[in-house]
Amino acid sequence: MSLANAAALQSLALSEVPIGCCISHPALGVLSTAHNLVNASRDPTRHAEMVALDRLFADGQSSDRLCLNKPPPTPGNPPYVKRSRAEVLELLKESTLYVNCEPCIQCAGALRVVGIKRVVYGCANPRFGGAGTLLPLHESSFLPDGRPGYEVVGGVGEREAVNVLRMFYDQENGQAPESKKRKKEGKRRADYGEAAGEAAGEAAGGAAGVAAGEAAGEAAGETAEGTEKKAKKEGE
Ligand SMILES: [Zn+2]
Repeated sequence: MSLANAAALQSLALSEVPIGCCISHPALGVLSTAHNLVNASRDPTRHAEMVALDRLFADGQSSDRLCLNKPPPTPGNPPYVKRSRAEVLELLKESTLYVNCEPCIQCAGALRVVGIKRVVYGCANPRFGGAGTLLPLHESSFLPDGRPGYEVVGGVGEREAVNVLRMFYDQENGQAPESKKRKKEGKRRADYGEAAGEAAGEAAGGAAGVAAGEAAGEAAGETAEGTEKKAKKEGE
């Protein structure tokens, strides 16, 4: 999970939503790491999990057009080995994917298709979570596709995950023009801050969780207030 968090922090510097992941095999160790590349690739499907899988299947390269280079070699980035698709699928049957936020429906479905053994995540994603929160795509019985599904463990390193997400929203809000701040805050927090706040709030009521939860609550309250005013005005 520390490698997933390190990857998430790297994406923070690129103004990507800081989601990072790491795929680890019990005998071979780290097979792949990645973070979100949505903005860099201008492709909304390039979530950390998809990029990590792409790199594993493509000898360290990501399959999207704009991110063809291997990630720079660092302690967190493994030396990618050329393997056949069949070899990668065999390794994934025994591997765990660690990610700081619950995989969305797209990624949870992809992880089912490639046959990952287990997913361990930090904070839950109540809006888009596909590993049990919104949809249980990891459960074999959920889809009649004959796939075995995978184990899911949530809440591991939850507080750190929330803190990294909070850093992102603080950074985003600090850079936004004053006129756009309030509007943007409401939208973005609804996507991830809300999830982070709820997850952290559940985790023993830590200060970060309470703060994030309050911020999400404020944003939601502002939106509700706006809707109420609009409705009132229309009714007049
Ligand atoms: Zn995703």
